Amino acid sequence: MDSLACKVLVVGGGPGGYVAAIRAGQLGLDTVIVEADRLGGTCLNRGCIPSKALIQGASSYEEMLSHTGKGHMGICLPSAPVLDLADMVSWKNTVVDKLNQGVAGLLKKAGVKVVNGWATFSDAKTCEVEGEQGSLSISAEYVILANGSSVSALPDIPLGGNVISSTEALNLDGLPDELAIIGAGYIGLELGIAYRKMGAKVTFIEGLERILPLFDKEMTRPIENWLKRHEVEVVCQARAEKVETVNDKPVLFYRDKQGQQRSIAADKVLVTVGRRPNTLGWGLENMCVDMEGSHVKVDKQCRTSMKNVWAIGDLVGEPMLAHKATAQGEMVAEVIAGERREFDARAIPSVCFTEPEIVGVGLSPAEATQQGIETVVGKFPFAAIGKALAMNAGTDGGFVRVTARADNHLVIGMHAVGAHVAELSNQFALALELGTCLEDISGTIHVHPTLGEATMEAALAGLGKAIHA
Ligand code: FAD
Repeated sequence: MDSLACKVLVVGGGPGGYVAAIRAGQLGLDTVIVEADRLGGTCLNRGCIPSKALIQGASSYEEMLSHTGKGHMGICLPSAPVLDLADMVSWKNTVVDKLNQGVAGLLKKAGVKVVNGWATFSDAKTCEVEGEQGSLSISAEYVILANGSSVSALPDIPLGGNVISSTEALNLDGLPDELAIIGAGYIGLELGIAYRKMGAKVTFIEGLERILPLFDKEMTRPIENWLKRHEVEVVCQARAEKVETVNDKPVLFYRDKQGQQRSIAADKVLVTVGRRPNTLGWGLENMCVDMEGSHVKVDKQCRTSMKNVWAIGDLVGEPMLAHKATAQGEMVAEVIAGERREFDARAIPSVCFTEPEIVGVGLSPAEATQQGIETVVGKFPFAAIGKALAMNAGTDGGFVRVTARADNHLVIGMHAVGAHVAELSNQFALALELGTCLEDISGTIHVHPTLGEATMEAALAGLGKAIHA
């Protein structure tokens, strides 16, 4: 067997691992990255990017449909647009391929060696990689584990055939007439809304009391309203029990909140009930690292309990988000290079690319109250923002909400729901990271006309002096 020794070994080429490898390479560390599948990980190949490409495709289709016949905004299409999902999926694949090549190019530029294959550890610093090139033994001084996560399945509803996960839902070659979705978290909702826009009949079966429980009710109401207006049924407090095939179609049986068994016949059943860290099948048990529940336990520098072994991204648990993985990857590489860093994020924004979109950073007013913090809350609707109306986007009930401490006006939470609000998330995170007060935000000149003006107005509203309210 061939062997290779390096300073830094990164396992997993997702947004955590490849960023760690690039930074390590940039810092002059002799670095190897092992990836069993394609570079870019879940995020690039079957997560963030392909889902957003399909969401964009679905939104373009829905938008064009709205111009058919009578038309609006002075644009009228004489006949309805034709949707070719297989074609949309292959367009999505070109986006993924381009970015995939981009990651390979960046790793090369940083002097990182890429090994394609499955790594199995025999001890904390040695692994064997099985790939097309045969077997390779790699030993390293420093190991960064970025193995990511996989879809969770339900024990009584195995994936396969017409029972699909988000991965298959991103690669369908034809539009299902009816789609039943188990789980109304962000992945299920993003995909379900996209398929509804394309014309599928969509039903959600959700175990909890309401959709997107990480956000408070005020934030999720515009999404619930959209679902209602588009005749998407959401059955909450229901338990999916089994799927049977009747006339070649899956029938999903579930128990409603009254304990009645009910069923939905669909063309596909999409299971989106969460993700679990990839801790099995690659020798983690041989590395003597401590676990915390289902994920690898790390400290503020992402060190595991084993010397010179780090873990980052989805492997270390919630929040399972690409930008968290990336921030941790960059930090760990710098720590290994001798820099004084720790993962001390004040704010990790979460965004759902639903209709409308929803963004949250920091505490909601209710969470602040639970922590004994007295707050002032400023809210401003997009219905009063010129740019939102000019973008035909101000009528979805969206708003920006800023939560600040009552005593010194320090901003502790920023939330928004509305069309395109994902683009506001970085401004929100920066405001929290910099420790801004309501006066800082309201006193910053915001460009007119932009959606971001709603943030300034919400801060002014918190001070009791909104202009356009
Ligand atoms: P991953 O991206 O999972 O990468 C891990 C890599 O390690 C994989 O490529 C795997 O093949 C490889 N690997 C594992 N074990 C081995 C081994 N033993 N040997 C070799 N290779 C190995 N997050 C967001 O922030 N925004 C979004 O909009 C968003 N949308 C999403 C939509 C969907 C449908 C899904 C499924 C996820 C989405 N996510 C989103 C979550 C995001 O994809 C993950 O948080 C992110 O990819 C985690 O990065 P990671 O580097 O930790 O792991």
